[in-house]
Amino acid sequence: MLRTVVSRLLPRLNRLSVCHYSAAAIPAPNTQPEIHYNKLFINNQWQDAANKKTFPTINPATGEVICEVAEADKKDVDKAVKAARDAFRLGSPWRLMDASHRGLLLHRLADAIERDSAYLAELETLDNGKPYAISYSVDLPTVVKCLRYYAGWADKWEGKTIPIDGNYFCYTRHEPVGVCGQIIPWNFPLLMLAWKLGPALATGNTVVMKVAEQTPLTALYVASLIKEVGFPEGVVNILPGMGPTAGAAIAGHMDVDKVAFTGSTEVGHLIQQAAGKTNLKRVTLELGGKSPNIILSDADMEYAVEQSHFALFFNQGQCCCAGSRTYVQADIYDEFVERSVERAKKRVVGNPFDLKTEQGPQVDQEQFNKILGYISSGKKEGAKLMCGGEVAADRGYFIQPTVFGDVKDNMTIAREEIFGPVMQIFKFKSLEEVLTRANDTQYGLAAAVFTKDLDKANYISNGLRAGTVWINCYDVFGAQAPFGGYKASGNGRELGEYGLENYTEVKTVTIKVPQKNS
Ligand code: ADP
Repeated sequence: MLRTVVSRLLPRLNRLSVCHYSAAAIPAPNTQPEIHYNKLFINNQWQDAANKKTFPTINPATGEVICEVAEADKKDVDKAVKAARDAFRLGSPWRLMDASHRGLLLHRLADAIERDSAYLAELETLDNGKPYAISYSVDLPTVVKCLRYYAGWADKWEGKTIPIDGNYFCYTRHEPVGVCGQIIPWNFPLLMLAWKLGPALATGNTVVMKVAEQTPLTALYVASLIKEVGFPEGVVNILPGMGPTAGAAIAGHMDVDKVAFTGSTEVGHLIQQAAGKTNLKRVTLELGGKSPNIILSDADMEYAVEQSHFALFFNQGQCCCAGSRTYVQADIYDEFVERSVERAKKRVVGNPFDLKTEQGPQVDQEQFNKILGYISSGKKEGAKLMCGGEVAADRGYFIQPTVFGDVKDNMTIAREEIFGPVMQIFKFKSLEEVLTRANDTQYGLAAAVFTKDLDKANYISNGLRAGTVWINCYDVFGAQAPFGGYKASGNGRELGEYGLENYTEVKTVTIKVPQKNS
């Protein structure tokens, strides 16, 4: 039975291009994984919150409490920052460690995560609601690859020698920034942890990470692996907690040297303001998007429909780079919409632990309500509801795959990030027109174009103001390739060699060289 389900699922999964995972059979998941850790991780120790507060983490498929988790507040942030500062002091084990050994620790962490990947995928699915088949086959291998990629960089991030005028030897050193606050979201809890920890640790920083309140469990398990593989005390500290308390305490902390944030543009503003008001800590932001996905009339119809479906619905539509404005050229518009609706109606929504499920619940009640609000605004403002639009189950936060046609650029659903399984399809005539409309947004995270014409692809790709452009594909990520936003989608780049720059101070050292032996 399992084998039939898997063999039916794998061809579909193989079209997901987010990672090139192996087609090995997916093990049957344990739907009730044991929870081993629910406290704060500071200085390699498990601690209650200073005020003993806890909060419930919820299973979004049922709405039931999984367990209580310690809730960090300002005092706990102070404690974690102190631990990270101590771990960063000159002469500490971490500062004295060979760069190659830092790389080895990251490799060991990747190995431990790989060893426990079935359990971690179960926990991710329980806490976040994403289908287990995806957690196991996409999220976990991508996490492991990201850590291994940055493990390799640890002893290769070289400075330069610089031929300045005069008798001097001038060189640069790439030094760690120091104590890095990292605030991550709930849509890819483990992957965001890896994107943040990989470059920070490879370059020798210490970390205070606040994980999202909706999905704290997998990061806490990874904390236990961080200790197991031998990272020194205080190098990584992991705090579950709320944004306005623990998150804000990190962003405004005078002894945090840098903050890296992934989340909403709204909170991105607060983070940048907090840094500006306090110690001008370095800020990198990966924020929202309303990414255009442009389908030209010469595109392969079946492929473009499937990819556009994936671009929007992947991860329950909870992707900052979701292709949430699908622009279709007028002469293929009707057929494209019809096929997209057919495809959305076939999408399998249900129990995320069922291996044939493509779409699980939204992460929480708040997101669920927000998405339903956008659906009613779409209907009210005159977009054509082609399918879906309703709640999809009598418990949990499930929403039907929804497609709106005839969407106009000024509608709320065309301008704001919905972060849910709601597709907006627009009609356009000329390339110039679609380029102008695609760029008419505060965001600039990602974009895509589907066409067989190389000149048209280049024209559009060069004209789009977005940090990533996919041509004839979508959501293709590699740890090697940078990702980040133009405009209000953020600043700085994560992943790849560029990702190291955000965690590095460049020190210029100039040495007087005597002209002759004296
Ligand atoms: P979403 O609306 O998708 O939940 P957020 O931007 O609110 O996205 O959350 C992303 C991360 O930012 C989470 O870890 C959250 O707790 C944190 N956060 C929310 N508000 C703040 C804040 N005022 N300061 C710092 N972090 C915050």
